[in-house]
Amino acid sequence: MKSIDITKFARPHILNLKPYSSARDEYTGVAGTFLDANENPLGSATDENFNRYPDPYQWEVKKALSPIKGVNPENTFLGNGSDEAIDLLFRAFCEPKADNVITLPPTYGMYQVCADINLVDVITVPLTTDFQLDVDGILEAVTPSTKLIFICNPNNPTGNKLDEKAILKILDEFNGLVVIDEAYIDFSDHTSFTNLLSEYQNLVVLQTFSKAWGLAALRIGMAFASKEIITLLNKIKYPYNINQLTQEKALESLKNVRKKEQMVREILQERAELIKVFEQLPLVKHIYPSHANFLLIKVDEPVKIYQFLIDKLIIVRDRSKVMLCEGCLRITVGTAKENKDLIEALKAFQ
Ligand SMILES: *Cc1c(COP(=O)(O)O)cnc(C)c1O
Repeated sequence: MKSIDITKFARPHILNLKPYSSARDEYTGVAGTFLDANENPLGSATDENFNRYPDPYQWEVKKALSPIKGVNPENTFLGNGSDEAIDLLFRAFCEPKADNVITLPPTYGMYQVCADINLVDVITVPLTTDFQLDVDGILEAVTPSTKLIFICNPNNPTGNKLDEKAILKILDEFNGLVVIDEAYIDFSDHTSFTNLLSEYQNLVVLQTFSKAWGLAALRIGMAFASKEIITLLNKIKYPYNINQLTQEKALESLKNVRKKEQMVREILQERAELIKVFEQLPLVKHIYPSHANFLLIKVDEPVKIYQFLIDKLIIVRDRSKVMLCEGCLRITVGTAKENKDLIEALKAFQ
């Protein structure tokens, strides 16, 4: 069991912070005459009523998530997208202009943006040319001020999964938080690192409702970690960070796991179809292995193809200027019809 003393590791003023105490913090009962939150007792200026503040800790959603994820509600944080959790981790653990974090490009852009917003240095340790972890390089890059290492698995924008032993070595050796971003876990065949939460107190696992669950517009993401870390994140979040509508719809989705699974199967089928067709297209020079709902492909003229597709109102992501992704486009797996349109457009390119 790898332990870490949060009281030495988090920013002191956050540890000592007296958080805002909302009306729903001070009285947590469900029945009663609520005259404590200055809400409108009559209802809402909409057909449906939203006049009461929502549960600040989203217990119903967390309880419904618990059996699906195998994680206790007390070890679960819900944020306005997993992006909120990323930002809160910086604010809880990284002292501006003093601490640093490690990212492993090419990877998800939000880690760098949150670091920049919070005036926290980023040490980058590029992935190897086959998009795996340079474990020795990562461990050598650690300084006494390194607080977080961000590992995106499966990785965005490359789509591959990372070697499990390499991640375990970093969890074992690094005396800071290892944040494993599993936004695409539902599309992969590997099991979640949430299994290891009880063994590693320095582990934070991020997941989201935005991809496989199909709920990007709701803005809700998950962070799973030790109780101490979750308590700290809860302390600094906005009191009502997940609105009532989002909580209700997230709960509804959790009663529909089979629909999510069905959609994942369909997307995986479409991904396999796309790969088959891409293999026959001379313009596609390489298809990177994907454990996500997108494909990274290498082409000779990425910008031209990107523009050509836009002219046909098909929008893909130009990643050709990203380190190690020279010549690459990132293409989200669409519906059968959307993929067919894409393929026809690519066939017309010359
Ligand atoms: C899409 C994505 C997310 C999800 O962000 P939300 O804020 O939950 O929508 C997180 N991490 C990665 C790597 C992603 O690609």
